[in-house]
Amino acid sequence: MKKKFKAESQRLLEMMINSIYTHKEIFLREIISNASDAIDKMCFVALSDASMELSRKDFEIIITLDKENRTLTVSDNGIGMNKEDLEQNLGVIAFSGSRKFAEEIDKEDADTVDIIGQFGVGFYSAFMVADKIEVITRKNGEAQAYKWESEGTGGYSIGEAVREEQGTDVIMHIRADGEEKDEYSQYMREYPIYKLVKTYSDYIRYPIKMLMPQPNIKEGSDPENPEFEEVFEYEILNSMVPLWQRKRADVTKEEYEEFYKNNFQDDQPPLEVITVSVEGIVSYDALLFIPQSLQNKYYSDEFKGGVKLYSSGVMIMDKCEDLLPEYFNFVRGVVESPDLSLNISREMLQHDRQLRAIKVNLEKKIRSRLEDMLTNNREKYEAFYKNFGRQLKLCALDDFGKSKEALQDFLMFYSSTEKAPVTLAEYVDRMQEDQKYIYYASGDSLDTVDKMPQTEILKDRGIEILYFTDNTDEFIPDMFRTYKEKTFKSVIDGDLDLGEEDKKKDEVANKKFKETFDFIKESLGDKVDMVKASTKLKTHPVCLSSGEGITFEMEKYFTAVNPELGMKAKRILELNVEHKAFLALDKARETDKAKAEAMSQILYTQALMIAGLTVEDPSGYTDTVCSLFE
Ligand code: ADP
Repeated sequence: MKKKFKAESQRLLEMMINSIYTHKEIFLREIISNASDAIDKMCFVALSDASMELSRKDFEIIITLDKENRTLTVSDNGIGMNKEDLEQNLGVIAFSGSRKFAEEIDKEDADTVDIIGQFGVGFYSAFMVADKIEVITRKNGEAQAYKWESEGTGGYSIGEAVREEQGTDVIMHIRADGEEKDEYSQYMREYPIYKLVKTYSDYIRYPIKMLMPQPNIKEGSDPENPEFEEVFEYEILNSMVPLWQRKRADVTKEEYEEFYKNNFQDDQPPLEVITVSVEGIVSYDALLFIPQSLQNKYYSDEFKGGVKLYSSGVMIMDKCEDLLPEYFNFVRGVVESPDLSLNISREMLQHDRQLRAIKVNLEKKIRSRLEDMLTNNREKYEAFYKNFGRQLKLCALDDFGKSKEALQDFLMFYSSTEKAPVTLAEYVDRMQEDQKYIYYASGDSLDTVDKMPQTEILKDRGIEILYFTDNTDEFIPDMFRTYKEKTFKSVIDGDLDLGEEDKKKDEVANKKFKETFDFIKESLGDKVDMVKASTKLKTHPVCLSSGEGITFEMEKYFTAVNPELGMKAKRILELNVEHKAFLALDKARETDKAKAEAMSQILYTQALMIAGLTVEDPSGYTDTVCSLFE
């Protein structure tokens, strides 16, 4: 007699049957993992009952392809089911994953396609590829076997059957191909099935066997010119013991590299391998890799980070983003915890306390590996930083420096004194006794920065300068505010605050040349906000500084992003009163005003050019220069 499925099961079945989900192949993972669970249970019984002569190695899962009848069968010698179990387990949606799934699809706005991907949907998923399923099963310790049979929404029937030993066969009658060629027929061939087992069930702890074609020389054929025939032999498809569960000392570097390359689409070996094994309230193993460079599509929307998540040999999520902080999302790897349910959804993951504990610990491990590299293998760290530095910097700046604390010690900047990248900690450690600030200079390249006139005085006094050459660097002082209580100061800041002596010198010069400065300001009009003397300069006659507010690098950045904004930094023209160009101007002011005016324009334009800002009227500038040739 046919029985109807319970309402919610019915709904789920309809979903499955009409599924447009593209990853239909996950059905095999689900059926195999049920088989593995059933063996786990049987194993437990066998091990706790000494009279039973079964040991772990007697258990197996067998996949059979019957091409004539178009069936795919997964058999196990696990615990099996009796009639009541069949009613209970396959007649209703009994378990959390499937139930939650059914609830979700009832929500109006639910995106069904996505939901299937997020949940382990269990036994019913087989209806995505099969139009009829038979389950022949015999429960351990019982003599009678049963057959459960269903063509999907029409309901199911249960009858008596025969089975030699305890266990279950799930016989799936594979659908005919629809519009798409090979849509379902692929499940009737050995190689695609082998690949699916490798992808989703490679680390199931019991052997998954299937008859695989082996090339064989035909008996009696001429050895010189042999004839081949295909024979089939049972092969174990899965590796069973996952790499991450083996002791690090037992795994070779090559094995790790091979695993990494095969699983994470990278043709370079990883830069670092991190292994973690924890037994406690939450037990888990992790195998993480720091790649050599950023993944291809890292900066595209398509990119998705995250680690593969396994539970008891079954992959439950290919890219679980919630196990790593966002700023380490370039780390690849696998995490396995037997404490996780197969049917875990993304939302559940986010709120799962155990997973959060794993996340905290994984981050710690990654950090300490990077710290170790930074202190003990500088060359390697620099290579790492070359590829990932920008990404770390962006993350440190993101969201108003939310992750500053976590990342600031991993950042590096080129140093004027070390002629190499250094960290902020190293800079602060070496600061001169009375030095108040972390000095930095911004520009497009190391070379331009190195030639900035504003760096002269600091260099002269042996004060280290960090070169900010990335266009994001300029935002660090603003977002970080301080590092170890030191604030940042740009070399183009109007006041480098190098001590009273310099200030006094500037004051005296400002007084002495007041009329000249007023004259220059008048000649330049709105182009500059202030004209003043500067001890900053040694060999150069002039420079621009920006005072409070946005800097020139920010101005350039904003102009590139959105010129409409008209963001402009303050322009303070600083002059070296000991330079002969200035002295000439000073003199001309009294003897030849027109010449002095031209000189003012020229010095200002030079300051603009040195700062890398646009010269508004280049031909006007050349005309002015030429006018002095007369
Ligand atoms: P879940 O695996 O989430 O519990 P399923 O829909 O996949 O949900 O399976 C429902 C139940 O059917 C399982 O919990 C199990 O009790 C039973 N079952 C499924 N397959 C087998 C099997 N091969 N052997 C024994 N019991 C099984």
